[in-house]
Amino acid sequence: VVSSTGKIQMRRYQTSQEKEETILEALKRPSQRSSEAIFGIVNPIIKAIREGGDKAVLEYTHKFEKATSLTSPVLNAPFPPALMQLPQQTIDAIDISFENIRRFHAAQQEEKPLVVETMPGVICSRFSRPIERVGLYVPGGTAVLPSTALMLGVPAMVAGCQKIVLASPPRADGSITPEIVYVAHKVGAESIVLAGGAQAVAAMAYGTESVSKVDKILGPGNQFVTAAKMIVSNDTSAGVSIDMPAGPSEVLVIADATANPAFVASDLLSQAEHGADSQVVLIAVDLTDAQLLAIDDELHNQANALPRVDIVRKAIDHSVTLIVNDIQEAIRYSNAYAPEHLILQVKDAEAVVQHVQNAGSVFIGPWTPESVGDYSAGVNHSLPTYGYAKQYSGVNLGSYVKHITSANLTLDGLRAVGPAVMELARVEELEAHRRAVSIRLASITG
Ligand code: NAD
Repeated sequence: VVSSTGKIQMRRYQTSQEKEETILEALKRPSQRSSEAIFGIVNPIIKAIREGGDKAVLEYTHKFEKATSLTSPVLNAPFPPALMQLPQQTIDAIDISFENIRRFHAAQQEEKPLVVETMPGVICSRFSRPIERVGLYVPGGTAVLPSTALMLGVPAMVAGCQKIVLASPPRADGSITPEIVYVAHKVGAESIVLAGGAQAVAAMAYGTESVSKVDKILGPGNQFVTAAKMIVSNDTSAGVSIDMPAGPSEVLVIADATANPAFVASDLLSQAEHGADSQVVLIAVDLTDAQLLAIDDELHNQANALPRVDIVRKAIDHSVTLIVNDIQEAIRYSNAYAPEHLILQVKDAEAVVQHVQNAGSVFIGPWTPESVGDYSAGVNHSLPTYGYAKQYSGVNLGSYVKHITSANLTLDGLRAVGPAVMELARVEELEAHRRAVSIRLASITG
């Protein structure tokens, strides 16, 4: 659609020719605006929402979304059918995706409590309960993302959360895309908050006259959304938790000579089109110059045919190709990068998975483009970015539940474990702790 000036091409490094530090430097994520600057913008927004409630939310929506006709920040269920009028093929696609996501997340349910008798008469158990009220942020600044509504809403429904609140920035006419309303309806959401950014997060964290306060906020978003989530989750007066820190989308593709260059290029581009700050990495295992050139050409040609070629061009500017010698080296760099999405287009891809240490979600073999995971396969697309795959899981059923443990002792159990408790209480000089055991044991012997 748009013609190019200059070839759209990723920077290229041959690992055997470079120092390790150079490669790791090349793999750094593009720098983000400093947290301090973002926090400086977001803190006053949160304060304004706490003090001004609905009125303040509306003011920001009028300002950022230009939705000046909007008079209420909330659309409550039941949602009018007129607001979810969709072509049948879109309904079918949402329904298929909904069902696959539902099935995969329902299978994550724990069937029964975990019960362990740690000593005779000392019974420990663990059981889960849904988080009662969840707020799901569906970004809307640059793209319409009903898929994110599915990925956040379906597990909330499966987990049995009592109150599901969706938030998404409305369009300039004040409306919300019908696809999102349809998903909100399908997952049983109580309401849709017609706001974006920090103001939406703050409204759900503290509640306003018409926005319900929630216990946990989940969902991706830009830096303002992420900063707001971090701030409210650190405020004990909000009493709200979050899923994980979020950053721009990214993919790492490992390809060898068995990979189809057109497939490889299409996967790289499907992430690069997310945003100018997205990053894509190709690790080429033992490819000839001709094979590398074929991927480069495909990338350039396919990119130029994309409506979002300008975004792609910026993303590709800070994206890299690493040329490595073998699959072990590829996996080593991939684990160090900890990609949100990892695509394996290599021989025996399935066998390679056992070496993956850090990744949000893995896409295996030539017939598994990452976009199937973004939409319809059933796996979740809300995943840790920015290297956080080293310590965070993507959104899953566990994100919507908390675990409660219980202990249940018989008299024999207390007799067995009591002395250890009393001794440790003595060491910690917590006499009341010690006595809570001794008083019981004495009541028997006495
Ligand atoms: P968004 O909904 O996250 O943000 C829009 C809001 O940003 C606006 O409502 C406004 O309140 C706020 N904002 C914009 N400029 C501002 C300013 N100058 N000051 C204060 N607030 C401001 O939508 P977006 O911007 O399009 O970002 C979406 C992000 O979500 C992208 O980074 C995308 O990569 C990411 N995303 C990630 C995933 C994932 O699973 N990792 C999925 C979908 C989207």
